[in-house]
Amino acid sequence: MTGISLWLYVFFAGAVAMAILWRAWRILRACRSGKETPAAHPRPPFGDRCGTDLRTFFQKRWAAVFHMVLVVSFLGMCVDALWYPLGAGGEAYRIFSAGNAALAAAAIAAAAGLLARRVRPIARYRSLSPAQRRDGFAVLILEMVSAATLLAVYAGWQQGVWWHYGILLVFALYITFSKHLHIFLAPVYLAVFGRRETFSPDDMPEVTHELDVLEGRAPASETPPERMGACWASDFTRGRLLSAFSCTECGRCESVCPVVAASDVPFSPRKVVADVRRAAMGKAEGALYGKAITRDEAFACISCGACLEACPIAISPMDLLLQVRRYAVLEQGELPPEEARVAESIVATGNPWAMETAGEEGSEERIPLADPEHPTEYLLWRGSMGIHDPQGRAVVRATARMLDAAGVSWSALPSEEECDVADLLRYQGDEWTFLTAARRNIECLHRYGVRKIITPCPHSLSVLRDQYPSLGGRFTVQHLSEFVLQALRDGGLELPRTLEGQTVVYHDPCRLSRAHIVEAPREVLRALGARVVEAPQAGRGSMCCGGSGYFREGEVPAAIAARRMEQLASTGAQRVITACPYCYQMLSVLSGEKALPVSDLTQWLRV
Ligand code: SF4
Ligand code: SF4
Repeated sequence: MTGISLWLYVFFAGAVAMAILWRAWRILRACRSGKETPAAHPRPPFGDRCGTDLRTFFQKRWAAVFHMVLVVSFLGMCVDALWYPLGAGGEAYRIFSAGNAALAAAAIAAAAGLLARRVRPIARYRSLSPAQRRDGFAVLILEMVSAATLLAVYAGWQQGVWWHYGILLVFALYITFSKHLHIFLAPVYLAVFGRRETFSPDDMPEVTHELDVLEGRAPASETPPERMGACWASDFTRGRLLSAFSCTECGRCESVCPVVAASDVPFSPRKVVADVRRAAMGKAEGALYGKAITRDEAFACISCGACLEACPIAISPMDLLLQVRRYAVLEQGELPPEEARVAESIVATGNPWAMETAGEEGSEERIPLADPEHPTEYLLWRGSMGIHDPQGRAVVRATARMLDAAGVSWSALPSEEECDVADLLRYQGDEWTFLTAARRNIECLHRYGVRKIITPCPHSLSVLRDQYPSLGGRFTVQHLSEFVLQALRDGGLELPRTLEGQTVVYHDPCRLSRAHIVEAPREVLRALGARVVEAPQAGRGSMCCGGSGYFREGEVPAAIAARRMEQLASTGAQRVITACPYCYQMLSVLSGEKALPVSDLTQWLRV
């Protein structure tokens, strides 16, 4: 390529490069308009993180391979477009172009495969808007045509080089100005923010400060407090904004969402991410909350976390919605009435059901109570269900027998000292009640000299183990199933084979599976003699039973429980066993032909 043609090429390529830089600058500016990302949550070691990212990316193996081929082929064509005009030739270019031709051929096949999925859309593509569908078609067709013209040029069609470059420049522009920019932004997001060690929401230093002022621990600040939560795109942190730009719109979040699966509520986690992205680019009219994201959408999510586990880019629609709910609750006072009653009850008494169950707490468990002067090795954290609910109390009694059988020294807090951890309210946006409860509990645990905690309640485990450390409460916390498994392995415990010959399906409580405790309960079930079969959506990305929306009004939590029971029953198991008092209650109240008998793991630990 010489003379005027080279200059023309340089001119157009330069123009495209300028447009790309302009777009990159606008996105950078949009992300920088967000708040500072608060103190980093612990992240898994680099190797583990990469392993998890790759495993999640390759969950849909062929789709992942096809997408990889498309990206690498596009990059190959870009390199060729720089190399060829500047004087291709020599052995190096010959080897490169041979590899590039193979990639281009593979890209045509991959694009055709992905197009087929869009012509007869798979379930998670069906809810895409017409514009999003056109977008999917356009990018695949552009990739196919770019690759085909490159192959034609390599085959000797010299005049075709202009067609190829023209199409490639249009393709590059299209990628830059469409959501396909995630190709470049997603790796940046994963590297800088990405996955966290624990399932835990961002803390709210502004609420901490307000509480400090109220309790006389800090002087009132002279500057007006920042807006709490997110009403506008700029209220999100920079990391969350970048996550919205990194979304591939693959819809995996939507396909695992229990609210989408089991209810008629118009709700889509994928749409929420797109709404935040549009708002960040100034394309949304007015405030985000109340317009693009309605109140019903904001409160539809039950914070089960399945979307985060499913997302190949580790984006959390749940956390975006949580920020919106925080604004609705803390700035607008819109906590739904049922939860507002629960919050009032927790702040006043530590018991979420104080208004209904006053005086019903049982002392019949014969639980040894903790003495601050004589701390025991373990503290049994009963959880509100374990103190105030008859089914939960049965779980605690079985746990107590287990601890006795293991021969460890243990005790429990007096019920009036153990405050509900208020995690369900935290996920609803009520950080105030959560923090009030957290301070009370951490102070109490320190006063009693507690170091090691065992709990049969996954909600308590998630808060005590993963959410209290950043608030000053560091304890060694185990779920009962972990403790039992460890005692079995150490030889300190023998279990009767109470489930010998039975086929059971284990329902992963979502708080336990998000805390990555999935193997211990299964191992204990096997030690009891059970044959454990797996339901759809089991393990770390398990489907919620509706218990994460336990205090919600309306039909949605029960509809989710029924849907989950269908999945569990489809395994042909004789019974469902779970390891959470909330799941136990949500699933065990179901009746009908398809409902299997449900029990808690502790009921089979008859030591
Ligand atoms: S948030 Fe994640 S799972 Fe959902 S559409 Fe975007 S990339 Fe896919
Ligand atoms: S947290 Fe659960 S309910 Fe909320 S959007 Fe994600 S999958 Fe749906």
